[in-house]
Amino acid sequence: DAISPEPADDTELAIEGALRPASLEEFVGQHKVRGQLQLLLDAARIQERPADHILLAGPPGLGKTTLAMIIAHESDRPLRMSSGPAIQHAGDLAALLSSLVPGEVLFIDEIHRMARTAEEMLYLAMEDFRIDIMVGKGAGATSIPLDLAPFTLVGATTRSGMLPNPLRDRFGFTAHLEYYEPEELEQVIARSARVIGMDLAGPQRDEIARRSRGTPRIANRLLRRVRDYALVRGGGRAASLDDVRAALELYDVDAIGLDRLDRAVLDALVRRFRGGPVGLGTLAVSVGEEADTVESVVEPYLVRIGFMGRTPRGRVATPEAYEHLGVVHAAQGQT
Ligand code: ADP
Repeated sequence: DAISPEPADDTELAIEGALRPASLEEFVGQHKVRGQLQLLLDAARIQERPADHILLAGPPGLGKTTLAMIIAHESDRPLRMSSGPAIQHAGDLAALLSSLVPGEVLFIDEIHRMARTAEEMLYLAMEDFRIDIMVGKGAGATSIPLDLAPFTLVGATTRSGMLPNPLRDRFGFTAHLEYYEPEELEQVIARSARVIGMDLAGPQRDEIARRSRGTPRIANRLLRRVRDYALVRGGGRAASLDDVRAALELYDVDAIGLDRLDRAVLDALVRRFRGGPVGLGTLAVSVGEEADTVESVVEPYLVRIGFMGRTPRGRVATPEAYEHLGVVHAAQGQT
């Protein structure tokens, strides 16, 4: 708004904010989830109550934060944002919950990383809008019940499998966000190009879309790098197809959109571990990455495009992965 201009040194972040669609209508793709959310919000509006708690699950950059903002905006409620790592004690959560105004939407990103003690407090809060605060220690300890204003919890997680069942069960609805199709990403890019004042023809948008790993955040990021490239070395505001390709190559995005880490994991799986099966932890260590990152960021996409399979004995590479890396499959090499 006019009172708080975006800080000048934070333009990348400011642009990311400007690129967020503000309504379900403008939100590209995820038709199923959009319909489900719309119904949930409409029902709450008719009954003049806060919407049920909503869990948004899926890999990073698919629109979970954006949806949380849209949920608050469409239901005309204020939004409070927090995250699992910021809630390391039950007291952190108690402070947050007790300061909510009636009907507020509370967004907790990376909710699977919240402290266990806070999780247990959250069960009661979600169900009864009440928490028990422990005062005193030892034999004299007592719990004082505290009523909360009714709220809507919107949780986001890249690892819905890591949420304890009692927490998962307390969400009225879980939205599973899927990777986007290139045609959908093309729409995201067309919209974003308009917002940042870029002139981008269809083939250029397609090229970026096909190389964005099914992820709007990556599409927007690549678009900005293409804009930079065109501005500095290419055709100015109108990027050519060559500008697009050169920019993506400069930033290590390969022909199908895999980045350095994707390729490192694939390479280790195929060459070092001879196609697997190999355990996730071993694979992660071999590329110097956290197992969590490999599991929630790299693996879902490689599985989705059919390059990696998950078996009870570990991760395996598919023939398509060998082909992409230009490695002859051991079984094919034998005669
Ligand atoms: P997440 O919280 O899942 O990591 P975000 O909501 O922060 O993802 O989205 C990342 C970026 O991608 C945002 O800048 C947003 O503008 C864009 N984005 C995500 N989903 C969509 C969508 N469906 N339509 C248009 N833009 C989107």
